[in-house]
Amino acid sequence: MSTPTIYKRSQHSVSRKRISENALKVLNRLDRAGYKAFLVGGAVRDILLERDPKDFDIATNARPDQILELFRNSRLIGRRFRLAHVRFGREVIEVATFRARHEGEKDGASIADTGRIIRDNVYGDIDEDVWRRDFTVNALYYNIRDHSILDYVGGVEDVRRRELRLIGDPAVRYREDPVRMLRAIRFATKLKLKIDDATEEAFNRYGMLLSEIAPARLFDESLKLFHSGHGLEAFEALCKYGLFGHLYPLADQSFGSDRRAYKLVVAALRNTDHRLKQSQSVNPAFIFAAILWGAMVKRRARFLVTEIPESEAFRLAADEVFSEQIKIVAIPRRFTTTVREIWHFQARLSKRTRKHVEKLLGHLRFRAAYDFLLLRVEAGEPLKELGDWWTKLQELDGVDRESMITESRALPRNGRRLRTKRKRT
Ligand code: ATP
Ligand code: MG
Repeated sequence: MSTPTIYKRSQHSVSRKRISENALKVLNRLDRAGYKAFLVGGAVRDILLERDPKDFDIATNARPDQILELFRNSRLIGRRFRLAHVRFGREVIEVATFRARHEGEKDGASIADTGRIIRDNVYGDIDEDVWRRDFTVNALYYNIRDHSILDYVGGVEDVRRRELRLIGDPAVRYREDPVRMLRAIRFATKLKLKIDDATEEAFNRYGMLLSEIAPARLFDESLKLFHSGHGLEAFEALCKYGLFGHLYPLADQSFGSDRRAYKLVVAALRNTDHRLKQSQSVNPAFIFAAILWGAMVKRRARFLVTEIPESEAFRLAADEVFSEQIKIVAIPRRFTTTVREIWHFQARLSKRTRKHVEKLLGHLRFRAAYDFLLLRVEAGEPLKELGDWWTKLQELDGVDRESMITESRALPRNGRRLRTKRKRT
């Protein structure tokens, strides 16, 4: 087919010291068994960019059953792409057999009418495999036999220029797999690469194809985008290219009528990026709480004009928002439950009676709910006094805290006067 540019060991910066020992073990064992074995994908790209790879992907001409035979600690996964996972404690090395290009249906391949690849398990050689990959910088093969890099697509030059370029015709490649648009945004923001014009221009045209993708996959991609450490940039890029609305249509609509809903997501992602930079933990529910807040508030307002009580209106609004959203992005139940709790707490945080305050402070979700309240303040909601009150309360203890709670009974509650209650005896 085509001849690669070969970069000898002296001409590139991928040293074995940067490759995990387990990945080297797998590469060497495949090599000794007479198979071709290459490190490929994100690891080669990241090392060339002077970054630590997140994981190590290997490509080989060994068939899945041959990989299984060679590694007792391996198992096959995936349907769309069948590959082997070789496990070493917590580290998993992904080993994929070279795939061939195929036109239409063949044994092991399946393509939908729209051109989307449903199954892609026709095996081939490296010079076929390369054209199945998404971006040039992801299609570099580090050969364990002589430590050279094989480059069929100009990926090394693109790394040097810091450009993200789709291999082939964007119209075809996005139709085959629309998720490549989301991957483009993730790599561009995380690795500070410039998306090349053709790769970028097609976003507008093919964004709607994301509706064909399984909701579980879109959830995974969403998390990767928002938890990359550059979540804010990724979000802004998704909005700029009109892709966000294909993933979170209700949220996107709420941004149009309420700028604070948008600013809340900005504040949440800025906060998440910051936490990740400090190696602090992040709960995915927090981001989804921010993304869908505006949509929930909008729905709730619709219920409130009827005579439904506030808590019921909230519950109905949340139900509607989730049931529509999970059809597109499958946010797992355990996260939607937490999102509900964070939301539900927002109303409770404005009740500053002793009984409430004590209960809230001791609650598992207090911290998340309080953090969320501060984000709402940051987004421009008129809740600064309430936020400051909770901040100060947590700094006090004993008698000081007691008196603060007692004094608060005269304070306005979310703009409304606090209903006077009978003193507890
Ligand atoms: P990360 O740093 O997130 O692991 P990565 O580039 O290694 O980035 P993976 O999802 O681990 O991404 O995939 C490994 C490689 O497989 C990619 O570099 C790319 O060559 C190929 N690949 C993965 N997903 C696709 C896709 N949707 N279309 C085409 N090629 C893909
Ligand atoms: Mg990878």
